[in-house]
Amino acid sequence: MDFRLSNEQAAIQKAAEEFAKGEFDKDIALEHELAHSFPYDIWKKACSLGFVGIHFPEELGGQDYGVLENALVVEAFCRQDSGLGIALSLADFASEIILRFGTQEQKQKYLTPLTRGEAISSGGFTEPDHGSDITFLNTSALKEGTEYVINGGKTFITNGTISQYVILLCQTDPEATPTYRGQSVIIVDTDTPGFSASDVGHKMGIKMTSTGELVFNDVRVPETNLVGKENRGFYQVLEFFDESRIEIAAQALGIAQGAFDRALAYTKERTQFGKKLAQFQVTQHKLADMLTKIETARLVVYKAGWKYDQGDLDARLTSMAKMYAGRIAVEVADEAIQLLGGYGYMLENEVERFYRDAKIMEIYEGTREIQKNTIASSILGKL
Ligand SMILES: Cc1cc2nc3c(=O)[nH]c(=O)nc-3n(C[C@H](O)[C@H](O)[C@H](O)COP(=O)(O)OP(=O)(O)OC[C@H]3O[C@@H](n4cnc5c(N)ncnc54)[C@H](O)[C@@H]3O)c2cc1C
Repeated sequence: MDFRLSNEQAAIQKAAEEFAKGEFDKDIALEHELAHSFPYDIWKKACSLGFVGIHFPEELGGQDYGVLENALVVEAFCRQDSGLGIALSLADFASEIILRFGTQEQKQKYLTPLTRGEAISSGGFTEPDHGSDITFLNTSALKEGTEYVINGGKTFITNGTISQYVILLCQTDPEATPTYRGQSVIIVDTDTPGFSASDVGHKMGIKMTSTGELVFNDVRVPETNLVGKENRGFYQVLEFFDESRIEIAAQALGIAQGAFDRALAYTKERTQFGKKLAQFQVTQHKLADMLTKIETARLVVYKAGWKYDQGDLDARLTSMAKMYAGRIAVEVADEAIQLLGGYGYMLENEVERFYRDAKIMEIYEGTREIQKNTIASSILGKL
């Protein structure tokens, strides 16, 4: 057993850290945060240097690396700035479904623009009445000749108002029993007539990503936009979650480390009662607890990524990584605010934003409770 990153992995991590340190300007981040705007300029630079889609094959503009290398990039970005890191990490959201199940034509058409900085993707699974439970969906795609006609709506869709296409999970056979055996994944270009998107409104964090409400009103797409097999979409999306949850766990890990970095620096500078805060033993214990949580999370996140790249899908480990890293990101960012006192509560001091951005880690891509359900069912099986 060797816990070290390979030289190549360490080089990727260093390159991502250097890029983030050089490009993630604090004032620009604050501007995007306040304007709720996507950081197009920084995203394009990240694409031109190969960070977006690093895990895609070279012929699609990627670098042929795995989920673990992608996680290293995401962690480094989120450590430097939670808001910018998450926005960049999610710019190719759900694309792995096409990567895994799509045809060669679909991959060329839809994935290459993501790595070139010419397109942003979104993944539409959640509906107003179906969040954690997507075993039945109200959004339907019914076959008419060589087309699917899509009707329905999705909510909380990251990049929903800015993406060039949606990777949509919908009901292609509303009569199927069980219902999830009648679901398919279909790509919908967002300039197709009948499609519309609007912003869901103010949210707690990740303000540099748009969160959209999508409406499909007799949207007609060619049958060639079906990804994978008809009526196998639910299973394809579950497999995608096994990968994407590792990426979310890496976001959480980066946020925790970034909040810790800032708390450490502050407590070594700030003096109260004639001493640096870091000289109080209570502060030292807090820092020790924070770093222990981060290091524990890192072990499980990297292991989940490594295992995935071995072709050994382990939903339980992935859920553990996402659940644990998400939880400790919230805890560590909370403690970081505490260590900065009143200054930590202010917008200009980034830990406040790290804290707000951390909370979504326990909600999207399956809530904390849903991860626990996955872990528990792997322990208990059918009772
Ligand atoms: C900012 C943001 C971005 C998002 N991005 C996307 C996106 O890009 N694409 C997309 O499809 N979705 C996205 N989502 C949706 C997200 O995945 C859902 O919000 C999430 O899955 C939970 O669904 P829900 O909100 O309907 O909550 P519900 O499913 O109604 O859950 C409410 C509470 O009940 C608990 N609960 C539900 N079922 C169980 C159970 N069986 N056992 C125990 N507890 C349970 C949940 O854990 C939660 O605590 C996003 C959400 C947000 C807020």
